Amino acid sequence: MSTPAVELRNVSKVYPGGVTALADVDLTIERGELVGIVGRSGSGKSTLLNLLGTLDRPTTGSVRIDGREVGVLPDKQLSRLRADVIGFVFQQFHLASGVAVRDNVADGLLYAGVPQRARRNRAEEALRSVGLEHRLDHLPNQLSGGERQRVAIARAIVGEPVLLLADEPTGNLDSASGTTVLGLLTDLHAAGTTVVVITHDRQLAEQLPRRVELSDGRIVHDSHHLSGAS
Ligand code: ADP
Ligand code: MG
Repeated sequence: MSTPAVELRNVSKVYPGGVTALADVDLTIERGELVGIVGRSGSGKSTLLNLLGTLDRPTTGSVRIDGREVGVLPDKQLSRLRADVIGFVFQQFHLASGVAVRDNVADGLLYAGVPQRARRNRAEEALRSVGLEHRLDHLPNQLSGGERQRVAIARAIVGEPVLLLADEPTGNLDSASGTTVLGLLTDLHAAGTTVVVITHDRQLAEQLPRRVELSDGRIVHDSHHLSGAS
């Protein structure tokens, strides 16, 4: 069997000040899965996503992303791992204002060392795959919320990540745009990308093949508990 995309063992996260945001979390996500992380506000979803995205390190326990132990990697190698393996989509889009759509996406390849011409070509391809090939020269503020999130998805996938992480990607969208965004994530999953999506939208969560529920920093339910993942 190939290396899991994600392997967490006995993970805890305690923030300075003493808040235990995650406690004793075990989670394995195989390559190619589409997983929803659900739970109410404050249950630890974003903290978990930050660990999966190597934006933070666990207080205790082991976090392996694509087989690499995050806790022991020096910062430089961690940034490298992030650039090579992970794509992010956030609720607030996080696009650079004043920068055309094409370059917002192309900049997703800056740290991968791709020359500018190739970055732009790949950006156009990614934008085509989210249905925005007619918006290349628009600025973010000339787009609807749903279109902005599609740009953010194009930026997240332009580097062909092993792992795509989305934190409430439909949280700021109307339901039609939310459906489009979910459709794109489903398409990416079908094409082989591992996708982890945080949501407190029950309807959205119910359409996902696997749901992991957090409560008070612990996994209280996993709809698809894989053997060996205990
Ligand atoms: P969710 O995304 O499910 O709403 P979070 O992971 O953001 O939950 O937060 C989990 C808990 O950790 C909450 O009690 C929150 O207040 C706390 N928390 C989150 N980030 C920090 C931080 N940087 N410093 C201190 N406490 C934090
Ligand atoms: Mg959150």
